[in-house]
Amino acid sequence: MQITVKTRKQQEIIDITREVKKIVEKSKIKEGLCMVYARHATCAIIINENYDPAVCEDILNTLNKLIPLHANYKHDKIDNNAHAHIKAAILGPSEIIPISEGKLQLGRWQGIALTEFDGPREREVIVEIVSK
Ligand code: ZN
Repeated sequence: MQITVKTRKQQEIIDITREVKKIVEKSKIKEGLCMVYARHATCAIIINENYDPAVCEDILNTLNKLIPLHANYKHDKIDNNAHAHIKAAILGPSEIIPISEGKLQLGRWQGIALTEFDGPREREVIVEIVSK
């Protein structure tokens, strides 16, 4: 299954928990694993708090301090988005969440999010569910 995410800013964190949960429910799989994978080089999938929006702001602000938008990156000469590749490489393109009793085993404050670093764009997220 696939989720299409339309991002609106150059950098933003978009919660996709609800969409992933729907796919898990439709699958009728009770025990297994759910893999969420972004097929892109300049965005990432993370699991983190989705209650206080300040957490997302803090994550983006901190990443921008560690990896500034421009810092004499070689790839900027070709594509001008080296910072986005570096951030995506550090966070990674996928997460795996256990499924138990038909439900994603997320903690109370955990959500699944696409982290955009080179938007706005349309992003494809693949959700694969494997039964035990
Ligand atoms: Zn690039």
